[in-house]
Amino acid sequence: MWDAEQAECQNQLPLDQRGKAPLIGACKPTRCRNSTVTRTHAPIWLAEEEDLIAMSQDRRLAPPRREAVLIELADVQRITRAFKYQKDSH
Ligand code: SF4
Repeated sequence: MWDAEQAECQNQLPLDQRGKAPLIGACKPTRCRNSTVTRTHAPIWLAEEEDLIAMSQDRRLAPPRREAVLIELADVQRITRAFKYQKDSH
């Protein structure tokens, strides 16, 4: 499902390097229209949410890092909320 025009991972690349291949290290599956999330992926996303919640509560975290974790958590919860909603509505 590679559509270079929609690929979030390409946004940080110089214009002449975009569109050649997915950049896994810069993957943003919560924002990319190329990503596919199904119920089989739920355990991974829910575990990621749990890890980020725990990390955000670590008192040793510097404020900028905590902010980055909370932004990431909000992104992940865009996915996990859908899983929880599906579970509750069945
Ligand atoms: S799903 Fe990830 S690797 Fe694939 S195109 Fe989107 S951002 Fe890139």
